[in-house]
Amino acid sequence: MTKKKPRIETQLIHAGEPRPLICGAVSLPIFQSSTFEYAGQDSYHDLKYIRLNNTPNHVAVGEKLAAVEGAEAALATASGMAAISAVLLGLLKSGDRLLAQECLYGGTHDFITQDLPSFGIEVDFIDADRPETWQAKLTPTTRLIYVETITNPLMQVGDLLAVPAFARENGLVSVIDNTFASPFNFRPPEHGYDLSLHSGTKYLNGHSDIVAGAVVGKNDLVERITRTLNHLGGALDPHACFLLHRGLKTLAVRMARQNDSALLIARFLEGHPKVVRVNYPGLESHPAFERARHLFAGASGMISFEVDGGVAAADRFIDACTLPISAPSLGGVESLITRPATTSHAGMAPEERRRLGISDSLIRLSVGLEAAEDLIEDFTQALRAA
Ligand SMILES: *Cc1c(COP(=O)(O)O)cnc(C)c1O
Repeated sequence: MTKKKPRIETQLIHAGEPRPLICGAVSLPIFQSSTFEYAGQDSYHDLKYIRLNNTPNHVAVGEKLAAVEGAEAALATASGMAAISAVLLGLLKSGDRLLAQECLYGGTHDFITQDLPSFGIEVDFIDADRPETWQAKLTPTTRLIYVETITNPLMQVGDLLAVPAFARENGLVSVIDNTFASPFNFRPPEHGYDLSLHSGTKYLNGHSDIVAGAVVGKNDLVERITRTLNHLGGALDPHACFLLHRGLKTLAVRMARQNDSALLIARFLEGHPKVVRVNYPGLESHPAFERARHLFAGASGMISFEVDGGVAAADRFIDACTLPISAPSLGGVESLITRPATTSHAGMAPEERRRLGISDSLIRLSVGLEAAEDLIEDFTQALRAA
């Protein structure tokens, strides 16, 4: 009899846990030790040392992350940007090019356009919704294709199944930043992606109390990237490993609730006369609604929208909200609200923001775990003030 693979809810609790339990401890202890007794290792990368990403807390959280995305291996990193930079520096060398989706996370966009060129690595941007245009951007030295599951802040969903297919046909490594969906809603390795990346700061940990990241995917690639990360020094501290590990155990219940609440709130906003536009892949009005419904368990907890009256009205609305905190970042238990033009996309030239469709009055909401009814009541009164 073949043993059936447990569902993600079960993997989040049990995968990666040490058996037998260490001294019977039901919760994996924190191994607060920088170095470990020499055990005859003959490779530098096998010495047990926090920076080498192989202490018991790293191993356990790595196994859990791999299991929940249905991948061979995973690596926890010191931040989402540590994961992204280690992947790109580990897999690309001077003379190589990559294809990347337009409208990337700001830090990723800046790393690709400002830091990678000094290593001799150049980018060609693609429209992730139009695979028929990708071939024209390929060069003999293109090595990698990079996309995001749901883009920030417009919540676009590109042709996510075309990416791994295109990568296979053209000998590229396919990489996706899966932060906005989380493995509860979408598991890229199951759809043929070579690597999936996360800012663990967001949904994976879910409590807005650490910065962390993850690289999930094929064994050989994760091993190569671990070696690069070992040299760059972006290891996750054991205490943060413990918190990420603890946060992961509740990912499924958090994400299911955040999916449901965000859909209720997106529908409320769409029906409100003072709201002129709502971007949420769970709404029938979203251009990729069918694609998202087919690929995702839920459309996640991120919504963006515009209120009538421009920037002044947007600021009045944010000021009048009493529950969501006005702060960047996302994916925590508390709702957060921002105006991307002044936070996540402040570094982008105004013309570039306009070209991508990010208006200065756009509001971005990360739906937390408050009662959806309370959030809707709060938005009702804040829209009156806007
Ligand atoms: C936050 C974020 C990152 C960067 O993660 P850090 O943990 O802040 O380094 C990367 N990608 C996306 C989509 C993000 O939201």
